[in-house]
Amino acid sequence: MVTNVEKAGQRLRLGYHVSVAGGIFNAFERAESLGCNSMQIFLSNPRGWDVGHLPPEEISRFAGMRARHPIDPVVAHMPYLPNLSTSDRAKMKKSVESLSRTLSLAGSLGVDYVVAHLGSHGGAGTEKGIVNVISAINAVEIPDNVALLLENTAGGTNSVGSSLEELARIREGAADQKKIRFCLDTCHLYAAGYDIADAAVANNIKKKLGPDSIGIIHLNDAKFELDSKKDRHANIGQGYIGESGFRKFLGNGWVRSIPLILETPENTPEEILLVRRLAGG
Ligand SMILES: [Zn+2]
Ligand SMILES: [Zn+2]
Repeated sequence: MVTNVEKAGQRLRLGYHVSVAGGIFNAFERAESLGCNSMQIFLSNPRGWDVGHLPPEEISRFAGMRARHPIDPVVAHMPYLPNLSTSDRAKMKKSVESLSRTLSLAGSLGVDYVVAHLGSHGGAGTEKGIVNVISAINAVEIPDNVALLLENTAGGTNSVGSSLEELARIREGAADQKKIRFCLDTCHLYAAGYDIADAAVANNIKKKLGPDSIGIIHLNDAKFELDSKKDRHANIGQGYIGESGFRKFLGNGWVRSIPLILETPENTPEEILLVRRLAGG
């Protein structure tokens, strides 16, 4: 596996979450036309439970498109319904099945990362939620060519994984830590009270999690103020983090060595150029 530190010498990896309308292979051209060299997609309906089994033709068409387009890494985001923190056994079973099918599909497609939300403990408490997430991630098989990325949350009621300590503890509980890494969302960090523009805060993130355990960063501005606990994304420079905040955050070499994915409301080539400028080229 190529580590982030090894990738550091290469050009910034940057992309959008793009639509898969008309077939997942269409995402490559959409990403490229926006100026991306990386991208994130859904492999199934984000608001449904079904992770379809793609026909072999679609899988080989996806592989063909990938070979022709310099998009790397390719990231898949899990649908929203699965809840890996739940104490409801039936819901946990469905959630683990959904995660398991997404990971296996990602393996057949050659998708590098699967991003999963950590969900809600539903009132059972953070400790119980953490135990549930650990047992869920230890119950799935992760293909050799895929890593599972746990995404930090904004810290809303009953959510699990909004603090660096919780994230680190969950990974420590994983049976195979090499296969479990993090997806850090800047809007969620900010909403959870981490001012990423502050050098000490950024250093603390690096120290607590370690840059090589961070697979990708979701680069999103925040529609609400620091510590708002609200998960509402804004375009880069149009929220509370602002251009100056992102310039400072992207001034950290370890941040620039990690692939960045934008999940902002409006997708434009100009925003990709803005991020490149803020990152110094
Ligand atoms: Zn997410
Ligand atoms: Zn995100």
